[in-house]
Amino acid sequence: MTPTQPVILLVDDDPFMLGLESRMLHAMGYGRVDTVGSAQAALAALADPDHSADVIVCDLNMPGMDGVEFLQALNAGPFSGSVILLSGEGARIMHTVQKLLSGGRLIILGALEKPALPDSMRALLDCWVPPGAEPAPPRAALAIGADEVREAVRERQWVLHYQPKVSLFTGALTGMEALIRWDHPRHGLMFPDSFIGLAEESGVIDALTDWVLREAIQQLARWGAERSPTQVAVNVSMDNLRAPDFARRVGTIVRDSGVSPQNVTLEITESRAMSPSPAPLESLVRLRLQRFKLSIDDFGTGHSSLAQLRDVPFTELKVDRGFVHGARGNQIIRPMLEGSIGIAKRLGMLSVAEGVETESDFEFLREIECDVAQGYFIGRPMAVDRLPEWTAHWQSRRRHLFGS
Ligand code: C2E
Ligand code: MG
Ligand code: MG
Repeated sequence: MTPTQPVILLVDDDPFMLGLESRMLHAMGYGRVDTVGSAQAALAALADPDHSADVIVCDLNMPGMDGVEFLQALNAGPFSGSVILLSGEGARIMHTVQKLLSGGRLIILGALEKPALPDSMRALLDCWVPPGAEPAPPRAALAIGADEVREAVRERQWVLHYQPKVSLFTGALTGMEALIRWDHPRHGLMFPDSFIGLAEESGVIDALTDWVLREAIQQLARWGAERSPTQVAVNVSMDNLRAPDFARRVGTIVRDSGVSPQNVTLEITESRAMSPSPAPLESLVRLRLQRFKLSIDDFGTGHSSLAQLRDVPFTELKVDRGFVHGARGNQIIRPMLEGSIGIAKRLGMLSVAEGVETESDFEFLREIECDVAQGYFIGRPMAVDRLPEWTAHWQSRRRHLFGS
């Protein structure tokens, strides 16, 4: 056994399966494979200091203690290895179990249908990281107070990065999304998920959004002069829409810069539940009357739902990345992605997929005729001065991808 090979523990109540899988693992070259016939036996074995396991391959449907209860018990105990689910219960159940465990301490390498084939088993075992080589644990969440957010508003400690959106029919750049970063004096560059919620709660989100809009619109005007991107997208929080003068303010900011509202997409995001009130709807319809484009961001998650789509005159449907990356090979999210794009088409909306991370994601979206793609595969969010470099690089990749 090489030192980088995991010690594997198979847990299954079916002796035939235990025999089959352990023979397969041995044939694949894994030297140490133990087997136990129940979850209770596995817990007893793991409690024995002489008995260790790096990867547990676990059945779900077992009499006595089922796989879910067993894995929850592991999550609560000292076990710090990885887990592979191996079950005949179908992809949907395994997907749910993976979700259930994803916030805990266990590292879930993946799930396989019984009987597992050697190639798929090896693909998951290759993802196992030996204990010494483990990446540093994530830094504890930074404690940022509302006062600091207010100070950041006064001190203008923000910067905008831009992420390209490209046409899936031609590869042409269709626009840029502005994404805020906080250049914090002590913590360095911080990402919006760590402060947008606070900005909303502390009532400074209006000042923040005004700043983002002004900055992004001025940038668009500069690009316009250089004949580079002609469209910009700005994220707007539901809280912004509650301010009675929001639509008027946005209209003034944009028109004062000589930019046409048709070149500005407002991506509506919601970080917390919207209380029932007509104000957001009123703002949205007034923005649309001024010819701003409206995008329902993160479609398919949280409150970005069919009900919103029914009630708001959105022009763009932006499918959440949780339904995009890996969709081709995933029998659960693939129909959801295809369905969302079908809905956008039938409603006459532009369909946009975010979270396009691989060439396979990109090609699949072309096959199902999604309109626009955005994601790391095309380009990461970047500072303005990186745009010329990205553009030159994308032109050559575009020729390769589109054969022109
Ligand atoms: P969003 O509007 O859905 O933006 C996309 C987020 O996904 C960005 O994270 C982007 O960096 C990330 N992303 C892009 N491509 C990929 C990919 O291929 N894979 C993966 N895994 N991620 C990708 P970021 O910049 O951290 O922003 C997070 C969220 O914060 C945004 O989600 C948006 O809801 C919010 N946000 C950003 N800027 C603003 C702003 O100016 N105002 C408001 N209200 N919210 C903002
Ligand atoms: Mg967005
Ligand atoms: Mg999004």
